[in-house]
Amino acid sequence: PAVVSLEGVSKIYGDTVRVKAVNQLSLRIGAGELVAIMGPSGSGKSTVLNLVAGILPVTSGTVRVGGQNPADLSEEEAAVFRRTRLGFVFQDFNLVDTLTIQENIMLPLMLAANESPARMRRRSRAVAEQLGIGDVLAHRVHEVSGGQAQRAAIGRAIIHGPQLLLADEPTGNLDSAAAQDVMRIFSDLNERRGVSTIVVTHDARTASWCKRVVFIKDGAVHSELYREDDRLAF
Ligand code: ADP
Ligand code: ADP
Repeated sequence: PAVVSLEGVSKIYGDTVRVKAVNQLSLRIGAGELVAIMGPSGSGKSTVLNLVAGILPVTSGTVRVGGQNPADLSEEEAAVFRRTRLGFVFQDFNLVDTLTIQENIMLPLMLAANESPARMRRRSRAVAEQLGIGDVLAHRVHEVSGGQAQRAAIGRAIIHGPQLLLADEPTGNLDSAAAQDVMRIFSDLNERRGVSTIVVTHDARTASWCKRVVFIKDGAVHSELYREDDRLAF
């Protein structure tokens, strides 16, 4: 079953000066896939991710995520859908500076407010330990490294068990070693827990962790690479 399907999707920004960012793009991503989206700057990668996230409305065409068409949801329903069914990872981590690493990881559970504080702490600790940041739970964001901050952001993105993880340039602000750690984590989550993941990147080494790479050019799918077993070699 497809977790994401885009059919003939176009996105035009602006009314007077019109920019066609996505042009008749079709793409299906199956449940359990780890997919990289690559392409030159300005080719429409971030726009595609925002259309999938339901943050932007399409100009034409159909988007389905987990069987839902974001266009069928009210703004409030869409917000709940994003908060409960999706996980987001950003280039600049987007952690809350005034909270500890553990509190950042717990945020989705606190927003859902259906578990005891003790259980939320236990779960966030388990996720942090799994991500190798169990020793910095009490630290503030400015006290940890970029790699640790991004792992905390991944913890926050997965703790509520989302159906789909969306990552926009997740290694863009990391040194090479931390970048590989982050991609190893996405790969593990994908293989061991079946988390469907889309990683937008312009970095070939980051993309090499993904079994499928979709190249976007001028707002449409230009080509694809697919490999069942080992990492893609670039
Ligand atoms: P990428 O992520 O591949 O760099 P984007 O999706 O950010 O590409 O952008 C695709 C095209 O849409 C570019 O020409 C960009 O300038 C334009 N664009 C992106 N966001 C906006 C916006 N909010 N308003 C107008 N044009 C935009
Ligand atoms: P186990 O696999 O034996 O449950 P873990 O340390 O993997 O041990 O998990 C401990 C707790 O943390 C479990 O309740 C589990 O639901 C939760 N947990 C662990 N990993 C994740 C994850 N990736 N996403 C959501 N919850 C997780």
